Amino acid sequence: MPALTSAFQLSGGILLDDDCISLYRDLVLTGQALEDRTVSARHELHPLAAKAIANLASEPVRAKTWIDGMLGSGMTESNVLEVIRFVNQIGGLVVRRGLRSTLDMAVRQITLAKLGGRGTARVYRAPAGVRGIASAVGRASAPLFATAPVTLSLANVAHVISLQQTELAVAVLVTLLLSMVAHELGHVLTIKHFRCDACVIQRGLRLGIIHRKMKRREELMTSLMGPMVGAVSCLAMTAVFHMNGFAEFGLAAAILHLLSLLPWYGDGRALFNNLMKS
Ligand SMILES: [Zn+2]
Repeated sequence: MPALTSAFQLSGGILLDDDCISLYRDLVLTGQALEDRTVSARHELHPLAAKAIANLASEPVRAKTWIDGMLGSGMTESNVLEVIRFVNQIGGLVVRRGLRSTLDMAVRQITLAKLGGRGTARVYRAPAGVRGIASAVGRASAPLFATAPVTLSLANVAHVISLQQTELAVAVLVTLLLSMVAHELGHVLTIKHFRCDACVIQRGLRLGIIHRKMKRREELMTSLMGPMVGAVSCLAMTAVFHMNGFAEFGLAAAILHLLSLLPWYGDGRALFNNLMKS
């Protein structure tokens, strides 16, 4: 029997009833397994989960219809949540949502956070081209960049900061954004140089590039090139913005990119893991 509960509740805060959803194109269902062609991984599925994912793979479907279909097939609400979380976690959910629903989702997320609840973050996956990377960087930094123009304008109007300081802040934000795109492009161009496909994955504030396993030397180069290109882009921006204090910022931001090569972080961890392999 279809549930009266909304898609928002049943999906742990990922979906809305009227979302138009489909399965990411690199995920292919073969029998009872879901193949991820980007990373050459294979996920064995429960028959009911395979059926649910098949419904998602055939054509775009309304979220509530998809969920009701799962409940109608005998799955419990927690099974449904498990399937949605699994597909989301591997970046498999492609969600199309209008502006009104986007605002509705933002309000629901804020309300949920106020009540002390914590929904699951939606994982965004896109082909690792300039557009996909820029979009993922935009999503990851949206909380900062959505509030920055208003905050800076108010601070400027209230004379808390001068016009020069406002300009410097804008230059800093632009550089951060562009260098994040350059960093990810550094990884992607290296991966593509080795004739391998890649996708960008964004979850909350975190960004990453996924690809199939490559040779050790290729993996090492890929880990190195992101921070290097990110750092060089920050230094290059000092030639664009001639402002007091910007050169120091450019240098600090370049160092920040290189710090991601420390063994505790994503790039550094991958680099050191590969170096340790015999
Ligand atoms: Zn990186």
